[in-house]
Amino acid sequence: MSRKTVFVDADILVVGGGMGGCGATYESRYWGRDLKIVCVEKANIERSGAVAQGLYAINCYMGMHWNENQPEDHVRYARNDLMGLVREDLGYDIARHVDATVHKFEEWGLPIMRDPKTGRYQREGKWQIMIHGESYKPIVAEAARKAASEVYNRIMVTHLLMDSRHPNRVAGAVGFNVRNGDFHVFRAKAVIVAAGGASHIFKPRAAGEGMGRTWYAPWSSASAYALPILAGAKMTQMENRIVLTRFKDGYGPVGAYFLHLKTYTQNAYGQDYEAFWRDSIEKLVGDYVNHHPVPTCLRNHALLEEVKAGRGPIRMVTKEAFKDPHKETVGWENFLGMTVGQAVVWASQNIDPKETNPELTTSEPYVMGSHATCSGAWASGPEDYAPAEYQWGYNRMMTVEGLFGAGDTIGGTAHKFSSGSFTEGRIAAKAAVKYVMERSKDRPEISEAEYTQLRKVIYQPLENYRIGRNEIVGGTVSPSYLLPLHGLQRLEKIMDEYVGGISSHYTTNEPLLTRGLELLAMLKEDLALLGASDLHQLQRAWELQHRVLASECVTQHTLFRQETRWPGYYYRADHPHLDDKDWHCFTLSRYDSQTGRWDMEKAPVYHIID
Ligand SMILES: Cc1cc2nc3c(=O)[nH]c(=O)nc-3n(C[C@H](O)[C@H](O)[C@H](O)COP(=O)(O)OP(=O)(O)OC[C@H]3O[C@@H](n4cnc5c(N)ncnc54)[C@H](O)[C@@H]3O)c2cc1C
Repeated sequence: MSRKTVFVDADILVVGGGMGGCGATYESRYWGRDLKIVCVEKANIERSGAVAQGLYAINCYMGMHWNENQPEDHVRYARNDLMGLVREDLGYDIARHVDATVHKFEEWGLPIMRDPKTGRYQREGKWQIMIHGESYKPIVAEAARKAASEVYNRIMVTHLLMDSRHPNRVAGAVGFNVRNGDFHVFRAKAVIVAAGGASHIFKPRAAGEGMGRTWYAPWSSASAYALPILAGAKMTQMENRIVLTRFKDGYGPVGAYFLHLKTYTQNAYGQDYEAFWRDSIEKLVGDYVNHHPVPTCLRNHALLEEVKAGRGPIRMVTKEAFKDPHKETVGWENFLGMTVGQAVVWASQNIDPKETNPELTTSEPYVMGSHATCSGAWASGPEDYAPAEYQWGYNRMMTVEGLFGAGDTIGGTAHKFSSGSFTEGRIAAKAAVKYVMERSKDRPEISEAEYTQLRKVIYQPLENYRIGRNEIVGGTVSPSYLLPLHGLQRLEKIMDEYVGGISSHYTTNEPLLTRGLELLAMLKEDLALLGASDLHQLQRAWELQHRVLASECVTQHTLFRQETRWPGYYYRADHPHLDDKDWHCFTLSRYDSQTGRWDMEKAPVYHIID
């Protein structure tokens, strides 16, 4: 079938128009008044990404002008939560700029709650401020729309293009329009990847008809990792997947409950269980358990052990707080502003939190770079702050020239959340504009042979389906092709059983990981036989490709780090203790797409802040 090919030239190409991408698009215009700035998004930036449904809190705000917190405090907080391992230079860089970003959000119309007594932003916790955030994403998207030369919605980017004259320099990207099937070739001097995190790489708790229900956005499909990995960028901390404690079945957030409503947890018999596990955790991880606040993974660990000991379910004690009408309103509004589904689950299960303490559970693991976790690309740090070893060019540039990242894409910087991701987009954009300006006459060249070959590969699943569909059995099963859903379920099963998902209590070991890699390799072979019945399924096929590659990266990192650094996120049963002597370091990987080989190495952790 003949398809239109659309060529787009840009100075700066932003891939993904979520929080990081909108920040990057907005800031690119500020520094690059005359540049062509293009944002490409697989959905519609108006309501795309993890913030699509809105949020009830901005989780990263210092409050420097009220002297509430300083950037150094935030670095200490993130470092403690990640058991010592964060890129302090990158975290500091975000923290020192994030307040200005939040002030812009307010200027653009985001209603931020105020404390009636002090007039300051209403704090939910030390770092969080409360917002009426149902329209958070459209407000942020409007700023990006006005700044961009062009926004291309509904284009799924599948591959980055490399400069035909410099093998380690990016030159653009290709993708397809998920509505009309047009093939898009973007040529750009710099590319900023901000394509979100990864859900659905581990088997979710909700299967069957409920499988779309995950905590992280189901459309976060690991492009943020697969695109740089395929281009040869180094990745870091990909083993540091995150597991969330959330309200059962709806994944409703617990932050406002703990911090603002002051609710607390107890086991099935009404006992506080966290203190009970303190000594045994200390034997695993040493003094980290005595730090305040107790790292997120360790709190998960106590919950998991309590359930394994047969004293579940764990419940959030809401009955007391919900007697206060103000707190009751906040409790419900918290869901209505960002996770309506949890309110519906409670209604459908006869749970009135005034009468019944609702159950909590732990989620399946996700891969992200912006929450209490820091997987992602290895990036150069800020010139004025990063140690020499962390600097090889421009701020937030990956190990591929001209390739930048923000938000979930960039590793080593936990706890940036929505505001920090937008801020990181701004930081990356400023550096990308400088990069482009300094090479104004040096436009990278793309190879016609390369994009023509990619065009064939990208649409192949439609062809596989067209030819194989006459052989189907039972409506969906074919000897000649694999449907994206079947491939996804196979991936999730491998990751769940071999790499530390829910069914193995997040536990794995070297033999399991090695076998997992063998099974992933077989799955990768079969991906050439994916069949897509329509453009929607073609998008699913490429989301699966990205998820599989990111999963392989997660597995390689998990195998490489021979310790259990974050109990509660995952366990290496063959190395059950935290080992600061050998593993107080970052793990780095680099994938060679020609040979399929992964090279692993360690990188030092520099503690810049005391
Ligand atoms: C349930 C939940 C609750 C949260 N709660 C809070 C909170 O209370 N407060 C807070 O501050 N933060 C919160 N966060 C975190 C916040 O949402 C993220 O930190 C932030 O959205 C990350 O920004 P990002 O740009 O990396 O990813 P996203 O905002 O997810 O944006 C990624 C974008 O890339 C697009 N994309 C993906 N792949 C492709 C592709 N191949 N081609 C083109 N486009 C692509 C996506 O469609 C999306 O628009 C929460 C997140 C979730 C999921």
